[in-house]
Amino acid sequence: MLNLPAGKAFTGFIVDADTPGIQLGRKEMNMGQRCSDTRGITFEDVRVPAENVLIGEGAGFKVAMGAFDKTRPPVNTLHAHRCPLLRIQHQAIAFLLAEMAMKVELARMAYQRSAWEVDEGRRNTFYASIAKAFAGDIANQVASDAVQIFGGNGFNSEYPVEKLMRDAKIYQIYEGTAQIQRLIISREHLAKYKN
Ligand SMILES: Cc1cc2nc3c(=O)[nH]c(=O)nc-3n(C[C@H](O)[C@H](O)[C@H](O)COP(=O)(O)OP(=O)(O)OC[C@H]3O[C@@H](n4cnc5c(N)ncnc54)[C@H](O)[C@@H]3O)c2cc1C
Repeated sequence: MLNLPAGKAFTGFIVDADTPGIQLGRKEMNMGQRCSDTRGITFEDVRVPAENVLIGEGAGFKVAMGAFDKTRPPVNTLHAHRCPLLRIQHQAIAFLLAEMAMKVELARMAYQRSAWEVDEGRRNTFYASIAKAFAGDIANQVASDAVQIFGGNGFNSEYPVEKLMRDAKIYQIYEGTAQIQRLIISREHLAKYKN
C-alpha cells in the first residue's frame, strides 16, 4: 500500500460513532469558534463491515477531494455577512466600510459562482478553492477592520467584534489552508492551458 500514489492509497468508510474501539480525545481549547467541539479520535481494532466502504477500495482520496469541492465554498459564507452598527464620524471610516462591503460582496460572488458550477454539472475545484481562499482571507481582513473601527472598545470582549476576529482565523486553516488553496488554484489554472 505504501508505494501507491495518493489517488489510490486511501479508502473511505462510514463508521458509526458508537462502534467499539472508538475513543474521543479531550476537548481542544481553541482561539475561536469555541462552541464547536474539536477532538482527536482514536480508532483501535475497530471492525467496519465491508458494505460501509464508500464507492470502493482505493477511492478514498477521490471521495475526500470531491467532498471538499462541495464543502469549501459554504465554509466561509457565514462569517462575511456580519457588519458592525456604527456611528460614522470620519470619511476614512466610511471608505474603510466601503472597502469591507466590496470585499464581502466579491467573496459572496465567489462562492455563488462555485455553487453555480455544481448546479451546471461541472467540476468546480478551481472555483471552490478561489471561494475558500478569498472568503477566508476577507473574513479575517474585515473582522480585523471592524475591531479597528470600534477602536479600544473593539479590543474588549464587551463588544462582539473581537470574537469575530478570533472566529475568523480558522477559515484560513481548516478544509485546506489558505496556502493549499493557492496550490490548487495555480495547478487548476495551468491545467486549462495544457494540451
Ligand atoms: C478547529 C479545527 C477543526 C478542524 N476540523 C477538522 C475536521 O473536521 N476534519 C479534518 O480532517 N481536519 C480538521 N482539522 C484539521 C485541519 O484541516 C488542519 O489543521 C489543516 O489542514 C492544516 O493542517 P496541519 O494542522 O497539519 O498544518 P500543516 O499542514 O503542518 O501546515 C502548517 C503550515 O504550513 C503550510 N503548508 C503546509 N503544506 C504546504 C505546502 N505544500 N505549500 C505551502 N504551504 C504549506 C500550511 O498552509 C500552514 O500554514 C481541524 C483543525 C482545527 C484547528
